[in-house]
Amino acid sequence: MSSVKDSEQYNFSAEINQLMGIIVNTLYSNKEVAIRELISNASDALDKIRYESLTNPEILTVEPKMEISIIPDKESKTLIIQDTGIGMTKEDMIKNLGTIARSGTKSFMECITSSSAASDFNLIGQFGVGFYSAYLIADKVTVISKHNNDDQYIWESYAGGTFTVTKWNEDSCYPKLTRGTYLVLSLKEDQLEFAEEKKLREIIKKHSEYINFPIRLSVKKTKSVEVELEGEELEEAKRKEVDNKEENETEPKKYTKTIEEQTVEFETINSTKPIWMRKPEDVTEEEYAAFYKTLSNDWEKHLCVSHFSVEGQIEFKCVLFVPKRAPFDLFDTKKKRNNIKLYVRRVFITDDAEELIPEWLSFVKGIVDSEDLPLNISRESLQQNRIMKIIRKNIVKKCIELFEKITDSKEDYKIFFEQFGKNIKLGVHEDSNNRAKLAELLRYSTTKSVNEEISLREYVDRAPESQKAIYYISGENKQALINSPFLERLNKKNYEVILMTDPIDEYVVQQLTEYDGKKFVCCSKEGMNLVEDEEEKKKLQELKDEFEPLTNVIKEILHDKVEKVVISERVTNSPCVLVTSEYGWSANMERIMKAQALRDTTMSSYMTAKKTLEINVHHPVLKELKVRVMNDKNDTTIKDLVWLLFETALLTSGFSLENPATFASRIHKMIQFGLSIQDSEFQEPPHLESIEISQESAAKMEEVD
Ligand code: ADP
Repeated sequence: MSSVKDSEQYNFSAEINQLMGIIVNTLYSNKEVAIRELISNASDALDKIRYESLTNPEILTVEPKMEISIIPDKESKTLIIQDTGIGMTKEDMIKNLGTIARSGTKSFMECITSSSAASDFNLIGQFGVGFYSAYLIADKVTVISKHNNDDQYIWESYAGGTFTVTKWNEDSCYPKLTRGTYLVLSLKEDQLEFAEEKKLREIIKKHSEYINFPIRLSVKKTKSVEVELEGEELEEAKRKEVDNKEENETEPKKYTKTIEEQTVEFETINSTKPIWMRKPEDVTEEEYAAFYKTLSNDWEKHLCVSHFSVEGQIEFKCVLFVPKRAPFDLFDTKKKRNNIKLYVRRVFITDDAEELIPEWLSFVKGIVDSEDLPLNISRESLQQNRIMKIIRKNIVKKCIELFEKITDSKEDYKIFFEQFGKNIKLGVHEDSNNRAKLAELLRYSTTKSVNEEISLREYVDRAPESQKAIYYISGENKQALINSPFLERLNKKNYEVILMTDPIDEYVVQQLTEYDGKKFVCCSKEGMNLVEDEEEKKKLQELKDEFEPLTNVIKEILHDKVEKVVISERVTNSPCVLVTSEYGWSANMERIMKAQALRDTTMSSYMTAKKTLEINVHHPVLKELKVRVMNDKNDTTIKDLVWLLFETALLTSGFSLENPATFASRIHKMIQFGLSIQDSEFQEPPHLESIEISQESAAKMEEVD
């Protein structure tokens, strides 16, 4: 071992230290994951050197072999995992194994401390901190590594906050490496089963069968061998022979015996023939599951798989998996997308080729192996490449077919849509070529099917003959939407209304304007046109004329708070509602945009909901108001009542109150009135016009937020 004075000591970053604390102290967990993670790291390192060798074959001269060796040793209570991959320089070791916090560290800790799967470390690889799982089974980990560009170094840590890095020298007890990493796990007393050949064989078969490099397990074998007798034994044998010698035996006899000899051999455990090169009908469900787990670091089986090859002008093989659950960072835009691994003629090229799959499909995992791309293709030329474009188109097509297949099972599709419904919606928004197909995959709750989501097909098929449009309403929660005044007339007509509660739905309906020849109509916007027959239209016109004095007065009072005041076709019970213009934002969209800290404020000025007040002329309050207006246009109570109606309409229509205090004081005044309390001290609350400035500054504050 190198002398202590050559070692440099480093502190783990705070987050990693915390993570290691949790790992070291974990009692109950599936500790096999450590082996899987470390083998996966070895395989990544081998992928890297192989990729580099494509452009620079000389880097392999020092070590042409590319393999992973697993060496258990019961006597010394160690397990060694060695690879001939790219290795780490001293700097790599310091950065990668301890000082640079990875984005996933915190998320992983939150996940294991909060989820019901507490202490289940199966997820660790997905968060990019798999190396530290070594401390589930070892109390000391030593990483000896040799990178082509540096000397050989030894990293070592007992956890506990620090690690050391030491330069390797001839006196070291660790071997000199050609290239790659030699990792020694000094196993915890209660984890010695990880030094057992049988156990390791089992784990590798289970988790690492589809690693594309040979995994060689060092196995002790006992062989029967013939050895020549020596010394005492030889004399004894000779003596016995003289006694039993038969007359006609002339051949000189050999004096040997059979003994059991222990040998150590390496045995390759995994089959390195890639699964995608086999015929789909020859691959079992279990094999796909094992391959999926290796590929994705997921511990659960996939939901479904598509395995196909394309031949003709261009040739490639592809396996695509849909997981059972969404990753923790599905919509993290900063994360690099590495869900599809690109191979060229069996050689791993990159898992970072964004052009292979669109963002909305970033949850699909898989591999593509192209026969046509050049091996030494650069990142830049990948982006421009025509073959890549064709592959991408095929992948999208196959993914959609796969999702369509999932719909055969209601149960499976429910799982799928719960997890990836947002992605399908994003697809509807972004992919105009496939929009129609993706629309078939959407599922929504409706006023007639609150708890079970239905397809647009079901919606259209069961709509009454007279219904010409697809009605929807958007807001924060289903319950509020069901009770919304906007639906009053539609409910009476027995029309079903789609309930949209996901912010992304607002984007969906921006692009998806029609389905099966029927227009999407928002129940809280203008342009509902519920009155269709001539008789009704005539009646409406008469009402408009009759109520014109009232609508004019209301508009005067509310001034620029509303665009116009009209007679409602859609409310039957409530006194009034506020609707927005057909092509502007809905109340819900306004709420969503306000919540976005980094929104583009130039947009909000012209998209902000322009409100139209719709009044229900059959409502007693409005009838009475009309009478009062006719009697005396300047009746002072009218003003207050109109403001109150406006503010309650804001609330029931999904907007927020600009000034709750003013609203409250108006209500208090009504309460006093209801209780017949005469209070000469009562101060008239300010009207909204007088608080214009404070609203402006409030809007500014929101932007800063
Ligand atoms: P991840 O592998 O997801 O990046 P890990 O915590 O498992 O996260 O590993 C951290 C980093 O350490 C890796 O990204 C890699 O750069 C380096 N590393 C780990 N094991 C090896 C190895 N066997 N050979 C070379 N580099 C390695």
